[in-house]
Amino acid sequence: MNSIDNENIYSILVVDDELNNLHLLSEILSEKHYKIRRAINGSIALKSVQVILPDLILLDINLPDITGYEVCERLKSNPATQHIPIIFISALNETLDKVKAFSVGAVDYISKPFEVAEVIARIDNQLALQSARVEVQHLNSVLEQRVVERTTQLAIANQSLQQEMAERQQAQEQLVHLLLHDPLTNLPNLAGMATALEQAISRVAQQSPEPFALILLDCDRFQLVNNSLGHEAGDQILIEMSQRLKNCLPPDACVARLGGDEFMVLLNTIESDATVEQVIARIRQALVPPFRLAAQDIFVSASMGVVLGTSDYTHPQNLLRDADTAMYRAKRLGLAQHQIFAPEMHHQAQVQLHLETDLRQAIDHEYLRLHYQPILSLKTGQITGFEALVRWQHPIKGMVSPAAFIPIAEETGLIIPIGLWVLKEACQQLKRWQQEFPQQTGLKISVNCSIRQFLDPHLIEQIDQIIKDTGIEGASLNLEITESALMENANRTADLLWQLKSRNIQLAIDDFGTGYSSLSYLHRLPVDTLKVDQSFIRQLLVADSSSGRPGLNQNFRIVQSTINLAHDLDLDVVAEGIELPEQLEALKSLNCDFGQGYFWAKPLEAQAAGNLLRQQYSAQIENRLGLKV
Ligand code: C2E
Ligand code: MG
Ligand code: MG
Repeated sequence: MNSIDNENIYSILVVDDELNNLHLLSEILSEKHYKIRRAINGSIALKSVQVILPDLILLDINLPDITGYEVCERLKSNPATQHIPIIFISALNETLDKVKAFSVGAVDYISKPFEVAEVIARIDNQLALQSARVEVQHLNSVLEQRVVERTTQLAIANQSLQQEMAERQQAQEQLVHLLLHDPLTNLPNLAGMATALEQAISRVAQQSPEPFALILLDCDRFQLVNNSLGHEAGDQILIEMSQRLKNCLPPDACVARLGGDEFMVLLNTIESDATVEQVIARIRQALVPPFRLAAQDIFVSASMGVVLGTSDYTHPQNLLRDADTAMYRAKRLGLAQHQIFAPEMHHQAQVQLHLETDLRQAIDHEYLRLHYQPILSLKTGQITGFEALVRWQHPIKGMVSPAAFIPIAEETGLIIPIGLWVLKEACQQLKRWQQEFPQQTGLKISVNCSIRQFLDPHLIEQIDQIIKDTGIEGASLNLEITESALMENANRTADLLWQLKSRNIQLAIDDFGTGYSSLSYLHRLPVDTLKVDQSFIRQLLVADSSSGRPGLNQNFRIVQSTINLAHDLDLDVVAEGIELPEQLEALKSLNCDFGQGYFWAKPLEAQAAGNLLRQQYSAQIENRLGLKV
C-alpha cells in the first residue's frame, strides 16, 4: 500500500507524549509520503481532529491528560469521527489491555519499540481496509441510490400499469355495455336480456310458483313517422318511448329494445293472466299522450304479442319466436291490438309463411289471373264498366281469393309488383274490349289499389306508361282505394290524388261506410265515386227490430243519407253486393247511380265478361231494330 493512492495523500495524526517517538514516527511516515500531523496529548488530538479529519490515528495509550482509551471512546462516539481507524501504540512495559483497546473501537495496536516495517504494514493495512470500507460504503450508497431510483421507476411503472389496467378495464366494460345495450335508448338489447330470460326459464323449470311473461311490442305504422318526419324525429320518439315504458312497468320487469321500433318487456313474476292484461293496459295508457316534437304532436300506438312462460320453454329464442307470432297476429287485427300466444298460432304462422313463398312464385310463374265484374247503371241497366279483381290460380290449391293473399302481399310489399301487373293487365283488357265493342262508349275499368301502391313514388310514372302503352283514356281508368286506407293517409296521398285528377283518372272510395270518414272531408279530395260497402246492402231490407218493417232499418237510412249527401257533393254512388231484385229496386228508389253484384254476375273471366258486352250490344241492336219489346 502506498500513501499515494489514487493521487490522494493520506493524512495521519500521530498522538504521543514522548517527543522522540513522535518525531521518529513522523519522519518514517513522511518519508512514505503520508501527511503527518502531531499531537502530544489527548486534548490536542481531539481538537486537531475537529479541524481536519485524518485518515488514520496512531494513538498512544499513556497520555498525560486523558488516556488513549478515552480519546478513542470520544472519537468513536462522535458520528463525524467514528469511522477513523485508530491504532493504539503502547510501550512493552505498559500493560496493554487488548480487549479494552478493541472494545473502545481501536482497529489494531503496535508495541513499542516498534519495527518500522511493521508500523508501515499495519498502517497500510488499516488504510487499505478503511479505503475498502469507504469503497464498500460508497458502493452501498450507490446501490441504495440505484435501489431508490429503481423503486421509484418501478412505482411509476406500476402506477402507469395500474392506470392502463384501469383504462383497459373501463374500455372492456364499455365494450361489454355496448354489446349488451342499445346505443339509442341505452336500454338492454336482446343480448343484454339473454341472462334475464334464461333465469326466468330456469326458475319456471324448477317449479317456481310464479310464472313469467314476455311481451313483444312493435309500434304501429312507425315507418310512416320515419318517412314523413325523418329518422331523427323517429329516434326522439323511440327515446321517449323507452322512458315511458320504463316508468309504467312494475319494478321487477325489464325492458329492452330489440331494434327498430320493437321493444321487449319481461315480466319476471306474474300472479295470473290478469297481471299481464294490467301491464298491457298500463303500457297503452303510457302511450296515450302525444309525443311532442318541435313541429307537431305525434300519436303512437303499439301492437303487442305476449307469451306466458311455461315449463315447455327451454330456450329464449322459442319464447321470442312465439311472442313474435302472437305479435304478428295482433298486427293483423289492426292498430293497438295485443294477442296472447296459443300453440295453434304456430300452425297458422306456418301456413302464412308458405303462402308468402308461394305468392312470390305466383308472380314469377304468372299464376295470377284477373276476373271482371260488371258495374251497371241503375238508370239505364247498361254495363258501364268492369271491376278487375285479382285471383291466384294456385297449382295445388286452385283458385285463391284475394282476401286470402292481398293482406300478405301488402305486408310483404309484394303488392307493388302484383298491383302493377293488375293495372297493366286490366288496362290492356279494357283496350281489347274498346276495340272489339267500339259502340260501347265510355266503358271503364275499375282497378283496386292498395295504399302501399299509393305511397309508392313510382306509381304515377307507371300509370302514365301504361296509359301510353295501351292508348286508353285517363278518364276510362277508375282507381279504387278503401276508405280506411285513404283516411289514414289522407295528408300523404292528397298530392298524388291531384296528380291523378290532372290526368282525368277517376277515383272511387271503396267499402265506403266502414272507415268512419266524414263526407265533407272527403269532398276536399278529388274523389268521383263512393262505393257503398256491401255490408250495408246486405242489411238494407232486413226488418227493423222495433217496427218489424223493412225500409226503416238503420242501414237503409244510412244508405239513403249517403246517396243524398254524395249527390249534393257531386259524387256518383255505386252499390256493391247487390244480390236480390228487392235490393236493386230499393236502391233505384233511393236514386243510386250504379250497382254491382251477383244479381247480374259474379266476377268473370275476361272472355265471359266480354260475352256480357256482346249480349248487351246485340240487345241494343235488337232494341233499336224494334225486335224486342
Ligand atoms: P272489393 O274491391 O270491395 O271487391 C268487391 C268484392 O265483393 C269482390 O270480392 C267481389 O267478388 C265481391 N262481390 C261482388 N258482388 C258480390 C255479391 O253480390 N255478393 C257477395 N257476397 N260478394 C260480392 P273479391 O273478388 O273476393 O275481392 C275481395 C277484395 O279483395 C276486394 O274487395 C278488394 O278489396 C281486394 N282486391 C281484389 N282484387 C284486388 C287487386 O287487384 N288489388 C288490390 N289491392 N285489392 C284487390
Ligand atoms: Mg273494389
Ligand atoms: Mg268493396
